[in-house]
Amino acid sequence: PNAATEAFIAASEAHSAHNYHPLPVVVATAEGAWMTDVEGRRYLDMLAGYSALNFGHGNRRLIDAAKAQLDRVTLTSRAFHHDRFAEFCTQLADLCGMDMVLPMNTGAEAVETAVKTARKWGYQVKEVPDGRAKIVVAGNNFHGRTTTIVSFSTDLEARADFGPYTPGFEIVPYGDLTALRGAVTENTVAVLLEPIQGEAGVLVPPAGYLPAVRELTRERNVLFIADEIQSGLGRTGRTFACEHEGVVPDMYVLGKALGGGVVPVSAVVAGEDVLGVFKPGEHGSTFGGNPLACAVALEVIAMLRSGEFQRRAAELGEHLHAELALLAGTGRVTQVRGRGLWAGVDIDPSCGTGREISEKLLDKGVLVKDTHGSTIRIAPPLVISKEDLDWGLDQLRAVLAD
Ligand code: PLP
Repeated sequence: PNAATEAFIAASEAHSAHNYHPLPVVVATAEGAWMTDVEGRRYLDMLAGYSALNFGHGNRRLIDAAKAQLDRVTLTSRAFHHDRFAEFCTQLADLCGMDMVLPMNTGAEAVETAVKTARKWGYQVKEVPDGRAKIVVAGNNFHGRTTTIVSFSTDLEARADFGPYTPGFEIVPYGDLTALRGAVTENTVAVLLEPIQGEAGVLVPPAGYLPAVRELTRERNVLFIADEIQSGLGRTGRTFACEHEGVVPDMYVLGKALGGGVVPVSAVVAGEDVLGVFKPGEHGSTFGGNPLACAVALEVIAMLRSGEFQRRAAELGEHLHAELALLAGTGRVTQVRGRGLWAGVDIDPSCGTGREISEKLLDKGVLVKDTHGSTIRIAPPLVISKEDLDWGLDQLRAVLAD
């Protein structure tokens, strides 16, 4: 890094909380799948803002939609109606095959909203005794960073020293149907799962697990909540990861790519029998469903309707996984998981930690981030060209061959 980069990093270190450990690169501009740093070096973005940038940096349609809305009205709060809200809710509900939307901003807020919705539904519709509602979640989950959400995390780093913790959650191993069946009781209001666990290292559950969860929850009058914040909106080659297993949950939790990497937009999407439990004053957000967010998200929904991005993710994903399977045969990579343009790559520890591999890739002009020790995650913007993807894979091969 040159002096400019070092000065930016030193100032960040001095004046921001150290709750992240970023790679030593300072980005100045970006376009499509490429970012340029303050030194003028270009990098291929193989992380895509943890899937918030599915449609690429500076996507023309999203930027134009945002600019047009900036000149009209950006915020009304929900105290008043605005003229983009109905269209956003109608279109998003339709994309999800559901009735209603409750818009928020960040992923964690949407998960909190899902938890509150399930509890209220439990007391009012299922008639669970007051204060007894239980939500079953999976080990190694990642649903966000609020105090309630970290209460049901199994990641010590995410949890330690943030108690007292919110009760009402039971954790079962991901993919273990027997454990799930044993955990669901008459007071269970919901099962909350990521259909593919992103932060855990892109873990795909065993085939048949999600359909079995669907059947169990339907039988036992329990809501099936799919957190598709990272897996949804094109990443896996379908609009929703649940679709690969032919599963329709009772509630989708969406975020990240819903705002196209331009503005934070998240939402809970469900049937009227579920989201209908809310009355005025019972939940809300100053920025949730604001005109700028709605304008950008409407363009995201329109792009998803074309099917083009899902198709790209499926086709390029097939190529990506074929290439990674070859790498897995070399012994430098111990396992590869994922679906579509999304992969968790376990590096043999003798080649270095995930962090070291990420830093070597940075030197070669590729941006990825490690997750959990020796795993790196590959999730480029869905607009990446096949040539760029191949170039990125060449760099990975070169780093592993070193
Ligand atoms: N849920 C899942 C599955 C996620 O991957 C994330 C973020 O990585 C979240 C929730 C939290 O979203 P946010 O960081 O916007 O609060």
